[in-house]
Amino acid sequence: MGTFSFEHSFEIDTLQRLIAKHQGLFRHQSLFDTHYRGKPLSITAIELGHQESPCPTVLFVGGIHGVERIGAQVVLSFLDSLLNRLAWDKHLQILLKQVRLAFVPVANPVGFLQGSRSNGNHVDLMRNAPIDAEEKVTFLVGGHRISSKLPWYRGQNGMEAETQVLVDYVRELQSTSTSVIALDAHSGFGLADHIWFPYAHTRKPFEGMGYIYHLKQLFDRGYPHHGHYKIAPQSHYYQTHGDIWDYLAKANPSDRPFIPLTLEMGSWAWVKKNPKQIFNFSGYFNPQKPHRHHRILRRHVVLMQFLIEAAFSQTLEGISAEQYLGLQTDAQRHWSKKR
Ligand SMILES: [Zn+2]
Repeated sequence: MGTFSFEHSFEIDTLQRLIAKHQGLFRHQSLFDTHYRGKPLSITAIELGHQESPCPTVLFVGGIHGVERIGAQVVLSFLDSLLNRLAWDKHLQILLKQVRLAFVPVANPVGFLQGSRSNGNHVDLMRNAPIDAEEKVTFLVGGHRISSKLPWYRGQNGMEAETQVLVDYVRELQSTSTSVIALDAHSGFGLADHIWFPYAHTRKPFEGMGYIYHLKQLFDRGYPHHGHYKIAPQSHYYQTHGDIWDYLAKANPSDRPFIPLTLEMGSWAWVKKNPKQIFNFSGYFNPQKPHRHHRILRRHVVLMQFLIEAAFSQTLEGISAEQYLGLQTDAQRHWSKKR
């Protein structure tokens, strides 16, 4: 299983085209500038909507793992849809007066150009934050410091630039938001679509679980035919070292809701339907047939739209301390039964 080398990445090119076409409609900045094979490369953040006083924020992240291209594509296609609707969609215009939407569609651009899960230093960015699992993790998969030649390598010396800039950016959003919901799109685990939330490093219940339980109830009732998501703490499946969202959730400095969700799209379903993909390395992680590709890109639109509507409605901000205690208790009961 060699590492591919590409001069171009469809997702990075798409992001650049989207910026060139719509740049009057949003703010964009580079979180990090680097070079790859002599060419400049950056990690781009795009923001739409409200920007003055603290407001609800929804952050969409893709491409932390360079082989999971579909995650970046899902984020880019939602952003593209919003930008195309903005000219006529009055509801969206009003929503953006009160909500900030932030996008980091390709968080690991070197990984995209190399066709590798890891970054340019062979570090798995989702194992690289300074946080350790409390129990023994699955050999290699949970993160390790044995060798950069093996996958899921944590790195030796602190955070990689890509990890650091994402952490800093989320903290900046936290400090200027009344709530932050983050959706980080990945693919490659199992047959089903999973939504994982903290923690990945411990079985202890996440303090923000009550908010997630509340959102889950609203989603289930509002969209009863979209129950294809399995929502649970990541530690129900496996524990890992170095999870970025765990690190940020644990350090969340305020009592403002911070809700990091990891969308793990069930890519094995594509492999099952199209066994030839097994022979194509990227086929493990990316749907290959056009009709299936469209299906994946539209499959998560309702969820993403729901999250921005929940932010617009100040759903999380509206929960009283007393209500929250009840939600947290219900959440713990719900997710302890499902073990
Ligand atoms: Zn991933």
